[in-house]
Amino acid sequence: MKILLVGAGLSGAVIGRQLAEAGHDCRIIDSRPHIGGNCHTERDPETGVLLHLYGPHIFHTDDEGVWDYVNRFAEFVPFQNRVKTTSQGAVYSLPVNLHTINQFFGKTLRPDEARAFIESRADRSIAEPQSFEEQALRFVGPELYEAFFKGYTEKQWGCSPRELPASILKRLPLRFNYDDNYFFHRFQGMPRAGYTAMVAAILDHPRISVELETPYRPEMAAQADHLFWSGPLDGFFDYSLGRLGYRTLDFERFTYQGDYQGCAVMNYGDRDVPWTRITEHKHFSPWESHEGSTCYREYSRAAGPGDIPYYPIRLVEEKSLLAQYVELAQAQKAVTFVGRLGTYRYLDMDVTIREALDTAGVFLGAEKAGEAIPAFVMPPL
Ligand code: FAD
Ligand code: UDP
Repeated sequence: MKILLVGAGLSGAVIGRQLAEAGHDCRIIDSRPHIGGNCHTERDPETGVLLHLYGPHIFHTDDEGVWDYVNRFAEFVPFQNRVKTTSQGAVYSLPVNLHTINQFFGKTLRPDEARAFIESRADRSIAEPQSFEEQALRFVGPELYEAFFKGYTEKQWGCSPRELPASILKRLPLRFNYDDNYFFHRFQGMPRAGYTAMVAAILDHPRISVELETPYRPEMAAQADHLFWSGPLDGFFDYSLGRLGYRTLDFERFTYQGDYQGCAVMNYGDRDVPWTRITEHKHFSPWESHEGSTCYREYSRAAGPGDIPYYPIRLVEEKSLLAQYVELAQAQKAVTFVGRLGTYRYLDMDVTIREALDTAGVFLGAEKAGEAIPAFVMPPL
């Protein structure tokens, strides 16, 4: 079959590769001048540092199949993300761990004592936390919430943590030992040559052709037997029902001679510091050495037309609009909506790859059985 894939990010690349290996011809287009989607990495011509152009990306997974898959296409160097945060004039370790607790409260607690101490600060009247704020008050108590989460989250999401679901905070561990690894997955690493080189290797197949700086035009679908769409779901329908809400990010680049902050990611918990974090990209490739350093100061705001959509908001209002777009999508023939934007969900890279592999599997199974291919293999709602 002739397959058109919109988007040369991980979703488009992995689905394209699976289908190409099964003998289908895959044409992959992307409006950007590079492959890799939001995982794109490139060298800064000024400092030589490998930049994560759309924000820092650390690969972490418990999915052995996905780990084997990425290692087929790239050499991974072990990497653990150790994040710091500046709050009220001091620097602490994240995610909240025993060091953070002892430093913050000026104590020398052991793990069991710290657990009991934090439990004594927590609001135990909250039985089933619904909002981000309730989750924080129930599990870390008001002091740590105010210092590390409240201001940061207001800046990141542009609303009160009372309006956000508890699930956003549940992404972060709370530890009563000195483990300061930001993630808890078995496999963690960085591709030595960057994510774009890994995606290039995935795309390197005689049945795959890639066209960059090529935005989708509806007439392209007529030349294909099936379309995989990894662009924004509402964008496929020309935003005819309105725009799904996203947060976008502005990165203010600056350079420095030497080591600017001593770590890859420094968060800023205080509300009156306008940025959320500063990333110093050479620390994402600690096996390299560069005199110069490139840093991004990161600011978050509501996405408008023309901005890059980064984080789907998914509150009540957005979910009701999403339901209407899902209905439109399900009425399409020979189109499958995939990935972070196509299904309007926050997806880490490992989940994106797992879903892309499974989507290709469903496609190949349906094709063999002569059945219709669904609009969504992964339901957005
Ligand atoms: P994308 O990468 O967004 O690719 C979609 C592609 O479609 C884009 O290249 C776009 O240009 C193209 N496109 C869209 N519309 C059109 C059109 N009309 N015509 C042609 N092309 C089009 N994951 C982790 O595992 N670890 C991390 O540390 C991590 N950090 C992140 C940090 C940030 C700030 C963000 C936003 C995400 C992070 N992620 C991280 C998630 C990761 O970026 C995603 O899992 C991944 O990029 C999803 O790939 P995708 O192919 O679905 O989407
Ligand atoms: N968060 C926070 N303070 C921090 C880091 C994270 O309040 O120093 C909150 C913030 O709301 C964020 C969420 O916890 O969206 C999840 O954190 P994660 O590091 O997963 O952030 P994301 O990947 O969303 O940038």
